[in-house]
Amino acid sequence: MQNEADVVILGAGGAGMMCAIRAGRRGRSVVLLDHAKKIGGKILISGGGRCNFTNLGAGPGNYVSLNPHFMKSALARYSPWDFIELVVKHGIPYHEKKLGQQFCDGSAQAIVDMLEKECLLAGARFELSCKIERVETIPTGNRRFRVSTDRGIVECDSVVVATGGLSLPKIGATGIGYEIAKEFGLDLVARAPALDGFVFSDEDGRRFSGLAGVSFDSIITCNGMTFHEAILFTHAGLSGPATLQASLHWNGGDPVTVDLLPGIDPMVWFMEKKKSGNRSLVKNLLSELLASRLAERLCELHFPDARPLPDVSEKELKVFCELLKSWTFVPKSTVGYSKAEVTRGGVSTDELSSKTLETRKVPGLYFIGEVVDVTGWLGGYNFQWAWASGAAAGDVV
Ligand SMILES: Cc1cc2nc3c(=O)[nH]c(=O)nc-3n(C[C@H](O)[C@H](O)[C@H](O)COP(=O)(O)OP(=O)(O)OC[C@H]3O[C@@H](n4cnc5c(N)ncnc54)[C@H](O)[C@@H]3O)c2cc1C
Repeated sequence: MQNEADVVILGAGGAGMMCAIRAGRRGRSVVLLDHAKKIGGKILISGGGRCNFTNLGAGPGNYVSLNPHFMKSALARYSPWDFIELVVKHGIPYHEKKLGQQFCDGSAQAIVDMLEKECLLAGARFELSCKIERVETIPTGNRRFRVSTDRGIVECDSVVVATGGLSLPKIGATGIGYEIAKEFGLDLVARAPALDGFVFSDEDGRRFSGLAGVSFDSIITCNGMTFHEAILFTHAGLSGPATLQASLHWNGGDPVTVDLLPGIDPMVWFMEKKKSGNRSLVKNLLSELLASRLAERLCELHFPDARPLPDVSEKELKVFCELLKSWTFVPKSTVGYSKAEVTRGGVSTDELSSKTLETRKVPGLYFIGEVVDVTGWLGGYNFQWAWASGAAAGDVV
């Protein structure tokens, strides 16, 4: 390993590689260090293997951070269209799936290959299977930092920490970025797994057991944030895009409310059936609107015995319909880092310049991507932050 570079980037994920491309194009000598054998591990498994690489609607409102303004500057200077331009330049076929989400038509490998090519074109070097041991400042001499690894030492002017969050330890996630921040005396915002769905309380777990695999369209609300997407029952709780989105906004003990029948007023619907003399069981009628396993379970839980519609009073129906429109439960927890798409929290934005992502306390030290306290919604927003923050730092390191 060469023992000098202008810029050392810790982590060859999306943010690190974008930073390397921009810094390399400016003529900086750049080395990317990663303990993984291959680069871009998360990109490869993202978006179900097709990488939801950006979202055309990405804006500050799609991110969670203690400082809701922090991401504005970087996002404004590197837009989804900037990344799409790169994708088009490399001839990678892509499409919009829904809600502005851009996916590869084929494998996410195309995005990793594109970033690798651009890094190499910009003159950046990769050092893989390389364990980072220590980052320290050098009090005197030509270079400002010394990065020690199990493969040797690199001295450099700038260190960019792009080591991501804690989610999916099995593909190489570690907390090293947070440890480096602590060593340099930087504040951290409490971390938590996010975009991972919910685990039911023991009681709800029993009430809804056996429903794994049932999915339905929903409107979910958590802490004032509302999402209209699908929910999926799992063996332990709830998953599906709506639940993943809600889990980003959930803090322990918060209630979650679900409209099981968006766009439908079940009271009006049942009353029309009642007036027309319909004598079906309520659970059979509800199966016309919801998956039958779910309809049956809700009716079992609400009406102790199967009852035909005429035997259910208007008052009882009203209470049942309110449940269908605003089922409220308190999850035991979110699912955890083994499934989480991201880590919420991280290096406090108070420590960083929003223009350059450089730390205020340690000139030459930068934090970019998921390690920072900026977490995007589900739908391509996290990669857009990785590209934008990587570009912001890469333009100045
Ligand atoms: C299953 C899954 C699907 C996802 N799908 C999407 C999606 O479709 N769209 C979207 O926008 N976001 C998605 N995300 C989120 C997105 O992948 C991340 O937010 C993004 O990859 C963060 O980029 P990053 O460069 O900051 O960190 P990472 O991509 O996590 O890169 C960090 C790098 O640092 C390296 N590293 C970590 N610790 C060390 C260490 N101790 N020594 C050396 N190297 C180290 C890692 O090996 C890794 O290569 C998904 C996440 C997951 C888990």
